[in-house]
Amino acid sequence: MSIAGKVIVITGASSGLGEATARHLSGLGASVVLAARRVEKLQAIAEDIRAKGGKVEVVKTDVTAVDDVKALISKSLSVFGRIDVLVNNAGLMAIAPLSELKVDEWESMIDINIKGVLYGIAAALPVFQQQGSGHFINISSVAGIKVFSPGGTVYSGTKFAVRAISEGLRHEVGGAIRTTTIEPGAIDTELKLGSSHEQSSAFVKDFYKIAIPADSVARAIAYAIEQPADVDINEIVLRPTVQE
Ligand code: NDP
Repeated sequence: MSIAGKVIVITGASSGLGEATARHLSGLGASVVLAARRVEKLQAIAEDIRAKGGKVEVVKTDVTAVDDVKALISKSLSVFGRIDVLVNNAGLMAIAPLSELKVDEWESMIDINIKGVLYGIAAALPVFQQQGSGHFINISSVAGIKVFSPGGTVYSGTKFAVRAISEGLRHEVGGAIRTTTIEPGAIDTELKLGSSHEQSSAFVKDFYKIAIPADSVARAIAYAIEQPADVDINEIVLRPTVQE
């Protein structure tokens, strides 16, 4: 039931929810593996964690590259000997009206937000099956429940997909392997900076004035992990009290 001693791999750990989750879970005694592209940011977070007595490993990972994600899981296994939880958190939110035809950004969001999660499942599922236990925590969004408008059609599409994939995964693998979907509302991170469309970017920055700190999500993730092994927290939706 305890988080202490668990090995937890977190993608998108160089900022925002991933960083907050890594720091929180390490503080509760987990060994954490930090994955993202900005390795210097990961190293700085890892140094802080080590200075507080935590066990941590950094693996430079681009979740859009299937071999990177396989290498992340292999390295985590070779360092810590097992993996208890994979937090599929890396994400991009590029908000713009569909009529702007930002096809490159649609592809990036699909690659990071959907394929990144699938690559995580592909790499970790055989390990969890062999261990006879494991826990996928996939980060969707309230935008995965209701389309984020205006401009959030593709982002919401990716987050609806994360919920669908998580639900299907839970049905298919169930039993000893747990699957949790987290659906946060506005959280104060770098995510709001992902839009290249000027008006959408201004809208998002204004909307995010109500955002709450990232450790709110870290605590929700810890709650899902610390349940007894036969309890699967399927979904957690959280948002600022003032968000509709
Ligand atoms: P941030 O922008 O702060 O963090 C995004 C993280 O994803 C960074 O660590 C970034 O690291 C990583 N990332 C992006 N692309 C890649 C890639 N190709 N390979 C590996 N890592 C990548 O935003 P958040 O912390 O807010 O976002 C985390 C998750 O939470 C996302 O899935 C987001 O959609 C979701 N979410 C956020 C909400 C919010 O309001 N903030 C609300 C609901 C959901 P690097 O650039 O170093 O690779």
